[in-house]
Amino acid sequence: MSEILQTAELSEARANPLLRPWETPFETPPFAEIEPEHFLPAFEQAFADHAAEIAAITHDPSAPDFANTITALERSGRLLSKVAAVFYDLVSAHSNPAILEIDKEVSLRMARHWNPIMMNAVLFGRVALLHENRAALDLTGEQKRLLERTYTNFHRAGAGLDEAAKKRRAEINERLAQLGTSFSHHLLGDEQEWSMELGEDDRAGLPDAFIAAAKAAAEERGMAGKAIVTLSRSSVEPFLKSSSRRDLREKVFKAFTARGDNGNANDNNATVVEILALREEAAGIMGFPTYAAYRLEDSMAKTPEAVRGLLERVWKPARERALADRDALQALIAEEGGNFDLAPWDWRYYAEKLRQRKADFDDAAIKPYLVLDHMIEAAFDCATRLFGVTFTERKDVPVWHPDVRVWEVKNADGSHKALFYGDYFARPSKRSGAWMTSLRDQQKLDGEIAPLVINVCNFSKGADGQPSLLSPDDARTLFHEFGHGLHGMLSNVTYPSLSGTSVFTDFVELPSQLYEHWQERPEVLKRFARHHETGEPLPDDLLKRFLAARKFNQGFATVEYVACALLDLEFHSQPPEASADVHAFESAELERIGMPAEIALRHRPQQFSHIFSGDHYASGYYSYMWSEVMDADAFGAFEEAGDVFDRTVAKRLHDNVLSVGGARDPEQAYKAFRGREPEPEALLRRRGLIEA
Ligand SMILES: [Zn+2]
Repeated sequence: MSEILQTAELSEARANPLLRPWETPFETPPFAEIEPEHFLPAFEQAFADHAAEIAAITHDPSAPDFANTITALERSGRLLSKVAAVFYDLVSAHSNPAILEIDKEVSLRMARHWNPIMMNAVLFGRVALLHENRAALDLTGEQKRLLERTYTNFHRAGAGLDEAAKKRRAEINERLAQLGTSFSHHLLGDEQEWSMELGEDDRAGLPDAFIAAAKAAAEERGMAGKAIVTLSRSSVEPFLKSSSRRDLREKVFKAFTARGDNGNANDNNATVVEILALREEAAGIMGFPTYAAYRLEDSMAKTPEAVRGLLERVWKPARERALADRDALQALIAEEGGNFDLAPWDWRYYAEKLRQRKADFDDAAIKPYLVLDHMIEAAFDCATRLFGVTFTERKDVPVWHPDVRVWEVKNADGSHKALFYGDYFARPSKRSGAWMTSLRDQQKLDGEIAPLVINVCNFSKGADGQPSLLSPDDARTLFHEFGHGLHGMLSNVTYPSLSGTSVFTDFVELPSQLYEHWQERPEVLKRFARHHETGEPLPDDLLKRFLAARKFNQGFATVEYVACALLDLEFHSQPPEASADVHAFESAELERIGMPAEIALRHRPQQFSHIFSGDHYASGYYSYMWSEVMDADAFGAFEEAGDVFDRTVAKRLHDNVLSVGGARDPEQAYKAFRGREPEPEALLRRRGLIEA
């Protein structure tokens, strides 16, 4: 290579903000300087660096030991993690056509990069030798766990397969990576393309807060002055709950449930079929009868039977409750002189009416008290009382969108702990849902690295300078994602791959769902739920009715969720031929479990991102319920202490669960916190499905 070219390349590297050291506060990504065209060259460099690091470990002439193999692996790929974290944050939370185009290429390149590493026989040989002799290695508890996880990950990726099988497994991985990416792009496409304008006559029943949010959504899409319903869940669900226009409810419901299933360029049916066939084939190569069996081997649940057992135990009482509720809703329709059968687009509307009558409570009445900023404060305050960490807003940290806010998290002694980014509002460039992720994970392998943790939600903005008001579900989501956030921020492990939320999928929802419990505490609501205009705290009787109403409609909520979890399990348990027609499979399964016709799946297959946008929750959607068994039981520890902010219990939770990431076996971690195994009845009681 000529000298001139080299200089040109060097200056290009310097010009690429992803490849320069970051001189921002806390060395955070300099978002304002990062352009889409920086990503491919940065990934190129990151892949090359990582490949060289892996080659050095593989070809190390000295005998394998923990430091030159396992620790060296933990040190490798730093640039790749750094670039990928920024990239995927933008892909999910603030994409544009250029980013999505690059995403297609990157997902394939990622698979091509990781396949030869995870299937590298020589490297696996080193790991396997250490694993075999682990008893003689004199390792710390965390190191033992790391060795176990590293060995398992290589083994499950196919590092021990013969060459032909490896080749096929690699092809499958590449194709699955592409399919997962197109699945989410399709969904985003269908969500971006649709909106329904609300004329003056179309607003019957809609509360002011909804209209304000609908106006803000219109403005966001360049339709200022209008009001629109979008296909974001925070727009659809409140609309279905309050619009008295049955024809419009039907229209919105059908558009929402048809995402990814419209027979257009965004159709996901063929994608689902191909994904399922390839997963099944990969499981076969690994020697498992089904993908579910393969996937669940590496989880707390361990087997499809254990998962099915839990789901079916919940399904029966939930379905019975839902059927009884259905009859009550139908009776309400008749009483009002309606001459039609309850349809799925009617459920939320009449359930809300029934709740108003029974509990004398309506979501719209509490919404003016749930100001987003105050609920953020509430989430922070609970963390301060439980774990001693404090939050100070920083205006000097670069962000990817002007709506994003950043807080510095400090320990009780004032030392720096983490940064927390909150990206709360829906916008067309953001995918639907709510999630926690990170720009950098905590570790202390070579000195303390503080995490950069993100929460992304899709709440509606307040219009005309009004604050954003949350529904009770939104407020719960805020606490849920913040619970994941704490798992990342309170992490205190040495090795990066064990950091924070790097735990089994059926354990990862424990911190998040557990945190939801504080959101519904009277002492929290009374302090932070204040009327957005008058500043008045939530009146006692409204609070009481609100808390009583939480158990209302739980049959419905449990049914729409458990049906999805069962469908996910069946998709990954039956031979792929069975799901060659996704619609037929869906209806057959729903019929088999006795799904009430008036309730729709929370996620139909064509929009089930959890299981098809990647494999993270594939055959793992049950995880929320598995974790719920623990969270319902775990909160009991605080109740038993007589104070939900009890610092001793909080410390046990911190020391055994929140700070240890994946450094401990989750079953042991839970038992160390609670002193015993979780007791599953707590979940049914919390959902009001059995008597307290
Ligand atoms: Zn979660």
